[in-house]
Amino acid sequence: MNSSEQSTPLLEATAVAKRFGDHEVIKDISFSVDKGSVTVVVGPSGSGKTTLLRGLNALERPDAGVVRIGDVTVDFSTVHASKRGRLSGSDRELIRRYQARSGMVFQSHNLFPHRTALQNVTEGPVVVQGRPAAQADADARELLAKVGLAGHVDKYPSQLSGGQQQRVGIARALALEPDLLLFDEPTSALDPELVGEVLDVIRQLAREGRTMVIVTHEIRFARDVADQVLFIDGGLVVERGRPADVLDHPQEARTQAFLRRLLEV
Ligand code: ADP
Ligand code: MG
Repeated sequence: MNSSEQSTPLLEATAVAKRFGDHEVIKDISFSVDKGSVTVVVGPSGSGKTTLLRGLNALERPDAGVVRIGDVTVDFSTVHASKRGRLSGSDRELIRRYQARSGMVFQSHNLFPHRTALQNVTEGPVVVQGRPAAQADADARELLAKVGLAGHVDKYPSQLSGGQQQRVGIARALALEPDLLLFDEPTSALDPELVGEVLDVIRQLAREGRTMVIVTHEIRFARDVADQVLFIDGGLVVERGRPADVLDHPQEARTQAFLRRLLEV
């Protein structure tokens, strides 16, 4: 990496806001994510973490704010749907390019139940990206092997444990070759004994230099993998910094109270 690449963050979010009705869920959030770095987002239930991630992926369009991911910039205050909920052609194309930059792993696998692990992973590349099936198939097998599921490619989700299903979900996100991976509490729906295998896969991705934003309550994991931690509460970034600072020496009373509650559990 040359120095100019290093100094340009992969993601820059500025003054992102999102409301549902008169509930201002994300008030004003700005942060950036360096290429190859891991950002962990922590915060109380209902603080807007999921809404923020869905906004970054434009699954849920922010009302305002500018987000750049790589070479695609969206000023959400200029993107408006018609009364019938449709975007103009140029906005649709912009959002499509924007969404292709990131991939999302959800809290609980939302795999297609009637497709095998392999078919779940090839679906996006073939249907969305129009890649040749044989190529997508070979790539998917490689990705499933990478997440430790080489022997399970032909199983259906119901034949896999929750941890294995989550790993299929990760392989599926990787298959679309996003620059940025977004994880929304990837282990919170799992039985405790299955959490480790999923975190290990994410750790491996961190070692490979993947750029990731991860919402999680796994504080020990956050300490290990995070380059920066954002503590959000009430739709604002309350505290942001290195894990050793935010997690071990939080400055803000709200961060201190949140971490104390987490440790009590
Ligand atoms: P977190 O992930 O931090 O628990 P969320 O982003 O899921 O928080 O939710 C933040 C707030 O936004 C909650 O009060 C939730 O009820 C509200 N909210 C989230 N999505 C919607 C929606 N689609 N419609 C209305 N309210 C929503
Ligand atoms: Mg959430």
